[in-house]
Amino acid sequence: MKRIIYVGFDQLHRDFGALKDAKPTEDLILIVESQRMLQSRRWHIQRLWFMISAARHFVEQLRSDGFEVIYLKSKTTKAGIRQIKKERGISNVIAAEPHSFRLLADLSDEVQFTPSDFFLTAKSDFLNWAANQKSLLMENFYRAQRKRLSILMDGDKPVGGAWNFDKENRLTPPKNYTYPEYLTHSRDQIDNEVLQELKSSNLDLWGADPDSTWATTRAGALAQLENFLNNHFENFGPYEDAMVKENWAFHHSLLSPYLNIGLIHANEVLEAVRNRYLKGDIPLASCEGFVRQVIGWREYINGVYWFFGEKYREQNHFELSRPLLPLFTDTSKTHMSCISQQIADIHDRAWVHHIPRLMVLSNLALLAGIEPIQYLNWMREMFIDASDWVMVPNVIGMGMHSDGGLMMTKPYVSGGSYISKMSNYCKGCKYNPKLRTGPDACPFTILYWNFLAEHQDEFKGNHRMFQQMSGLKRLSDLEEVRKESARILKGLSDGTI
Ligand code: SF4
Repeated sequence: MKRIIYVGFDQLHRDFGALKDAKPTEDLILIVESQRMLQSRRWHIQRLWFMISAARHFVEQLRSDGFEVIYLKSKTTKAGIRQIKKERGISNVIAAEPHSFRLLADLSDEVQFTPSDFFLTAKSDFLNWAANQKSLLMENFYRAQRKRLSILMDGDKPVGGAWNFDKENRLTPPKNYTYPEYLTHSRDQIDNEVLQELKSSNLDLWGADPDSTWATTRAGALAQLENFLNNHFENFGPYEDAMVKENWAFHHSLLSPYLNIGLIHANEVLEAVRNRYLKGDIPLASCEGFVRQVIGWREYINGVYWFFGEKYREQNHFELSRPLLPLFTDTSKTHMSCISQQIADIHDRAWVHHIPRLMVLSNLALLAGIEPIQYLNWMREMFIDASDWVMVPNVIGMGMHSDGGLMMTKPYVSGGSYISKMSNYCKGCKYNPKLRTGPDACPFTILYWNFLAEHQDEFKGNHRMFQQMSGLKRLSDLEEVRKESARILKGLSDGTI
């Protein structure tokens, strides 16, 4: 063998990364299961199971393609690479650039990197774009992506005459709706072995054992894409922000875990979406909403992760210091129906969609003043698709506004009224989203007004906060609300709210 190709756990694609030019006669493939990584955190069991089982299935696929593959359990990734270099007498190790700062630094003296092509936008292209912007507005990046990739374009104009269809895509939960069934995936011997290994280990794990929600193979990922196109794509857009008790995924594609470990590439998703749209029965608004997620948000988040640098995760603009609330790991520690629903869903499947992440969980973390790094760590540990590059900008820049506005022009905060409008969680909740004082007042509503009042000096100069600050000025009972907020914060920390 002439060289070793190191494949990361999030680069499981035969046609991308360092594997695209690999030859069974010349290349030894190496995947390292780092015990330090497994032991470093209290992971959701489904995240570890998903990543390990997908990697081991990928090994089988490569072996059936004729490759020699070593799947090595080692103390660290670096130690594993060193061990195989020495044992096999091969010094030339190549890999696609890792997708996290830590791994990039860790492996740089052992491995020769080629640029990662697991995204649609090269890192250098995003950095060039960002360096020339006055502000990093996602909308500007997205429009440039539409033009560059020639998606939903009519010459240099957007198809349908508009770049976005947010008005059509922000419908509230429907009434008397037939909620879709979701695709299930069967388990095989590798899946079961990995689960048994994890359960008999001494790792600190959280969450329910995996059910049939997630696939661990490329075939399963492709089936998920097909299912989305056939059964969900049409209504994805209108209901992408809605949250309902009756259906945990609604019309979301559930493709992010597969995209983020490489089982499927964004190019493949885009191609399939484009072809499906061209058949003519998918509304433009729905297609645009989905395309925005794939070529806009996903690429933008990865870009800003690298643009802001390694220390970005430590930002704490509001100087928040409250420890993570007990309700984030124990639904018995809250009476808030929206929160207990989300935590139960995360416990069961390690996933909830973007609106619960942003407008329920992150909203609460910010309003309650949780130290951003603690909340970031929790998000990294709990979600099945939680790559470092996903969670750092989403939590620090978007969810908690901890960068003071480098990424987003305003904090994404709301009271109970937004959750009440976009979900059916408030029906049957102990609290009332319309009340801001008294024992039945919604904790979100109380903390929202308290947060605006606390930071009014900063927000009054922000034109995007104008409406919210005008609302604050009109509050006649602000003093009482602020007193109530002390009770709520204490109750949240005690696990009694
Ligand atoms: Fe959540 Fe408040 Fe609605 Fe209860 S009333 S579900 S706490 S938003």
